[in-house]
Amino acid sequence: MKKTSMLLITVLMLVSVFTSAANFAPAPEPVDTKGMLIGISMPTKSSERWISDGESMKKVFEEMGYKTDLQFAEDDIPNQVNQIENMVTKGAKVLIIAAIDGSTLSDVLAKAKENGVLVMAYDRLITKTADVDYYATFDNFGVGVIQGSQIIEALGLEDGKGPFNIELFGGSPDDTNAFYFYDGAMSVLKPYIDSKKLVVVSGQMGMDKVSTLRWDGAVAQARMDNLLSAHYTDKRVDAVLSPYDGLSRGIISSLKGVGYGTKDQPWPIVTGQDAEVASIKAMIAGEQAYTVFKDTRELAKQTAKMVDSALKGEEVEINDTKTYDNEVKIVPSYLLIPMSIDIKNYEKELVDSGYLKAEDLK
Ligand code: BGC
Repeated sequence: MKKTSMLLITVLMLVSVFTSAANFAPAPEPVDTKGMLIGISMPTKSSERWISDGESMKKVFEEMGYKTDLQFAEDDIPNQVNQIENMVTKGAKVLIIAAIDGSTLSDVLAKAKENGVLVMAYDRLITKTADVDYYATFDNFGVGVIQGSQIIEALGLEDGKGPFNIELFGGSPDDTNAFYFYDGAMSVLKPYIDSKKLVVVSGQMGMDKVSTLRWDGAVAQARMDNLLSAHYTDKRVDAVLSPYDGLSRGIISSLKGVGYGTKDQPWPIVTGQDAEVASIKAMIAGEQAYTVFKDTRELAKQTAKMVDSALKGEEVEINDTKTYDNEVKIVPSYLLIPMSIDIKNYEKELVDSGYLKAEDLK
């Protein structure tokens, strides 16, 4: 081979070595997440689901080699802010927060972000701040659709039955979930209200009229007492839309107080959410017709997966980039699927799956 062509080949080989080297960015430093502290801030222990959420997350994260700091704020907002602040001081690299009031965390999260903390909204959206990275939750609108559909099914509205009397309850107005639940339920109930097959005898509709601050069962019970004495002394209530088991039990106590639950005055259809032990017992006793099961073990696993990917610089699994506008940004979310529970499927879905223990339901 001629000298010139040898030279050309060598030059071409060198060029190709350099260009291919330039095409490969240096591999990212592997992130060592072992022993990293995860702060888990849950709103209250007064409802079983949050205890189960907290415990499931602790377990999953610890199995993955993380350390955890799990705190419950007993529905006290300053308490939750302090607990989160302490987590950051202790060196938490991640905060997982189910907010009491989603709009109250902007200052503490701004501080967390100065420290490079990853912030996850857990089940409840965190609003009015850019300092939230991801949201892991259930299809909250879908929960409401299930609750509304349960009433439609139980009353036989699709078969043309009716008219029936109904009252509506909403969740806490400082929790965006409450609006999704209500809107979801109304998306299926409203046509029957418009056609007068469902009659809201009190006329109280809309979250401004039917919400229940802090998801407090006693508040729901007091409102149900008032509704019954003001509007139902000469008529029967056939259904009560309740978005959460704790409210449903308050509503059922109120109904019991005026004589529902007998042969002559059977229970109205009462919905719920969370598959709490006391409500499944009420279901077995025929008092509460339905609940919605959201498997908190799955939510914990999904959250841990998202956190682990984010910390390692890997792609974070999300399936919704449109719904959860927190008034500053749309928070990238992962939504799990909720499930309708009634007397027919509670054993299979709750007991056989190990979510509840059969002996606790006795
Ligand atoms: C949750 C529900 C729960 C309610 C009351 C909501 O944010 O999504 O599962 O029933 O809070 O704790």
